[in-house]
Amino acid sequence: MNSENKKFDNKKIIIVGSGFRAMMTAYFCLNFSKDVSIISNNKNIHGVMGPIKWQGGNFDKGYHFFDGFNKNTKKILEDFVGKENLFDFGYGATTYTNRKIYYDHAIPYWPHKSYYFAFEALVKYFTQILNNNKINIRSYRDILNTYPSNIRKVLEEACLRNTNLEAEQLSHLVCGYSHFLCYRQTLLPDFFSNILKKTDFFNKRIASRRKSLNLDRISLYPKGKYIGYIAEIMESRLRKLGLKFIVSNNTKIIKKNEDLLINCDGSLLNADYIFLTTELDSALDLFEEKVTEKKNNHYVSQIFYYFSTNKLFSKYQYVHGNDININTNRATNISLYGEKTSSNEYVLSAEVPTNINSEIWKNSDKFKDVIWKELELMKIIDKNQIYTNYKIFNLEKTLSVPLIDFEDSLKEFKNLINLKYSSKVLLPGIGTFTRNIFIESLKEIFKQ
Ligand SMILES: Cc1cc2nc3c(=O)[nH]c(=O)nc-3n(C[C@H](O)[C@H](O)[C@H](O)COP(=O)(O)OP(=O)(O)OC[C@H]3O[C@@H](n4cnc5c(N)ncnc54)[C@H](O)[C@@H]3O)c2cc1C
Repeated sequence: MNSENKKFDNKKIIIVGSGFRAMMTAYFCLNFSKDVSIISNNKNIHGVMGPIKWQGGNFDKGYHFFDGFNKNTKKILEDFVGKENLFDFGYGATTYTNRKIYYDHAIPYWPHKSYYFAFEALVKYFTQILNNNKINIRSYRDILNTYPSNIRKVLEEACLRNTNLEAEQLSHLVCGYSHFLCYRQTLLPDFFSNILKKTDFFNKRIASRRKSLNLDRISLYPKGKYIGYIAEIMESRLRKLGLKFIVSNNTKIIKKNEDLLINCDGSLLNADYIFLTTELDSALDLFEEKVTEKKNNHYVSQIFYYFSTNKLFSKYQYVHGNDININTNRATNISLYGEKTSSNEYVLSAEVPTNINSEIWKNSDKFKDVIWKELELMKIIDKNQIYTNYKIFNLEKTLSVPLIDFEDSLKEFKNLINLKYSSKVLLPGIGTFTRNIFIESLKEIFKQ
């Protein structure tokens, strides 16, 4: 234990939020103190990991894995939930793009005239070097403006489909939230790509398979179950370690003289440190001080189509729909690694991001066969395969993406925390997306 993390020793720590982030934060904190509480606005603290119950089984809300992990973050998760509960399925991604399937590949391959586009991108890049000091990247639009026009057009549409917003409304940070909004091309066989990727310029623009790059390909999952099963283990382990769970619908953080207080539905609690694991807008709402009037998070609305069928066709966990001509941005082979229905049928899901005013949102049922056909294009089902049952869930709020003012608001927020709250309020992983990156940010705070 070094001096950095000693500051949490035997302190009263409160975490606001629920779901993976809050529970993982609690696990780290409990290494230093027995007085740790989670304040959630929901009785069920499993968040987005909680399953959808259908046909006698538990099914994830789309694709859920502990993926992108490295050996170190894998060990942390295993210590928390038990090695025996996690199976490493390895990398199982495929991409459908330009009407073709690219196996073992989840990186976008948007443009169909790749060599031409790559040349145009190179010219554009050198032009940018000459004007380097003029480029100020704030919005996703600013990023698109650095791309050749044809790539830009594809990504503009991809942005609308995958986030329901225009590029100028989003922060450039959104690239870290979605494969679909990045630009990388598979131009050459991996061997040659990997030589070129040794330079930063080509590394950012050329795609090759993780396998050929010798990168970790760790994807952990409770085999034959559902991701919420791990959330249940997390909760029960934390309860055994002495974590207190408090449900509060109206939570406010207050600084009174030197005291850091939390008002939970009228009851005042003292804290030495507070960790906020909610989205930025929810975190800002916890304070009396109005840091900004701006909205900083946008929740993508998505339709989840579930189908049950009598066979498993693909050996891949999921297929990215990197093609703006289809509705589905991800088709998931849930029963390949997770549960089946009570009548032993396999379940597949399709995630369809869309605006709540769209035709497909309003009449989702009418589109079920269109979506089923897309699963065929994505080679997750066979040509003549049929579905037995289906179920559609329209979820207004799924992933949250950062809006254009996100970074400015966060900067102001951090100033407030430093000046008024003496840096006793911490924001692990804010502005990042995956579970692996979140654990990395906790490691940084606790210097583990
Ligand atoms: C469909 C989908 C699939 C995903 N798949 C993956 C994946 O495969 N791998 C991966 O790494 N990541 C994935 N993610 C990202 C995932 O959201 C995060 O990795 C992580 O699980 C989110 O956990 P969380 O704790 O931030 O919040 P959530 O699970 O989103 O829960 C947040 C909770 O915070 C609580 N809350 C909010 N505001 C307050 C407040 N003011 N006071 C108290 N409580 C509050 C709410 O009750 C809410 O339930 C996916 C996300 C979605 C939406």
